[in-house]
Amino acid sequence: MLRSHSQVLYSYLPGAVFRHEDRVYGRVVTVDGSRLTDLNEAVIFDEIARYLEQWPEEDRHDLPLPRDMRIKEYRLIRPEQVKWELFPLTFECARPSCGRVRTFRTFEDIAKSPRCKRCDGPLQQLRFYNAHNCGQTKQIYVPRCAVHGYDDLSFDNTGSFLTATWRCHGAGCNGGVVQRTNMSPCNCRKWPGPDKVVRMRAHTLDDSRAYHAHSIDLVNIDSSTFQTYQRHPARGQIAVAHYLGLISTLKEGMNEADTRTDTDRMTPEEWEARQAAYEDMGLPPRTSR
Ligand SMILES: [Zn+2]
Ligand SMILES: [Zn+2]
Ligand SMILES: [Zn+2]
Repeated sequence: MLRSHSQVLYSYLPGAVFRHEDRVYGRVVTVDGSRLTDLNEAVIFDEIARYLEQWPEEDRHDLPLPRDMRIKEYRLIRPEQVKWELFPLTFECARPSCGRVRTFRTFEDIAKSPRCKRCDGPLQQLRFYNAHNCGQTKQIYVPRCAVHGYDDLSFDNTGSFLTATWRCHGAGCNGGVVQRTNMSPCNCRKWPGPDKVVRMRAHTLDDSRAYHAHSIDLVNIDSSTFQTYQRHPARGQIAVAHYLGLISTLKEGMNEADTRTDTDRMTPEEWEARQAAYEDMGLPPRTSR
């Protein structure tokens, strides 16, 4: 499966659930790639640290701020290799007349018997999983019939997890409701519902709202000029002057700012020319200096 680098950055970071092929869903485990060395790391880490600082510390979990020694825990890479695993491991029989649900514990177990135990029909992944604001994801909770255990369960998918039901087709149960679906609790204990219980939210496997990639837009200019500019007290004015085309380079702007004093005034001719340029840009004319 081939995806572009930017697709990986937005949709295939660790924890993301995605459709791998027509009928198979997976969850990203790791992303790796070659190390990027031609970036201005100081600026990037500083921006990441500032972004992360907006989150309460406990919500960052173990994610360190990339400052001082902790920068060593970060690596800037080009995303080239995505490792993923099959997810979720809860399946249902693809034959509508059967629909028995089977949950596997390991990938090996699936490989050993990837068919419905009851009718030998093909299996497909159940289309729901749980996600919580804290970032955790988990398979949906499968209830147990008191008489028949898990063997004859089916998932009555109404299209919405809230109204879907679990039914048992064992002798005597005959398709009766075992349990309405339940949102699984989350152990993070944050963001409780109105009833004070902390619950994850069920999403379909294709629901893009369950996953949000964080990003920061940066223009990378790896040069000593840029680093000097970043620290320059007049960088705001220089940026505006550069944007308006009044200076051709950041360096020129810094030179001008460094050498200029308040007694450095434009000659009347220079001012005329500058004002004409401003008016060409659509800025309102000023009558006095
Ligand atoms: Zn079956
Ligand atoms: Zn039963
Ligand atoms: Zn949580």
